[in-house]
Amino acid sequence: MVSKPCTKCGRSLPLADFAVSRMGANGPILRPYCKECGRAANAAWRKANKAKLAAYDAARATPERRAACIAWQHENREKLKVTTKRWRDKNPSRAVIHVSKRRAAKLRATPPWYDASACDWAYVASKMVERMDGVRYSVDHIVPLVSDTVCGLHVSWNLAVVPHSENAAKGNRWWPDGW
Ligand SMILES: [Zn+2]
Repeated sequence: MVSKPCTKCGRSLPLADFAVSRMGANGPILRPYCKECGRAANAAWRKANKAKLAAYDAARATPERRAACIAWQHENREKLKVTTKRWRDKNPSRAVIHVSKRRAAKLRATPPWYDASACDWAYVASKMVERMDGVRYSVDHIVPLVSDTVCGLHVSWNLAVVPHSENAAKGNRWWPDGW
């Protein structure tokens, strides 16, 4: 197998472990460091630039972009259903559907095929969980409504009931595995 060394971690890895940087005359040119090191560097950068990223997101949260996001979600809804189901299967304790209180975002994220009855049922379910557990629960959008990579929708299959403390800590930068 053809391999090459990573400039960051020094390991010799298969070419598939390196992301393509750009296309050269003789084919794709790979990054000097491996995908794993790239992910780590990216995560560190995001952590160090939280305020900058928040400002960037806010500047991009326009009605036009929201409309484009809704269209994107509509196109990809079957795929997204699979993703969110996978997340729910992995997180059974948090997998009760619920309606969020992010009203402003919700109004802009509500698509034409919005399923009110499913969302209302989710709200009731969250209240039941609260009574059973004795702690406050809140509504979470599994795929965030506003982020710089994708746009979640306010629809039943994108909702989850999570302990309020957890939801507050997450912000809008979370994304299920595999995307
Ligand atoms: Zn590496």
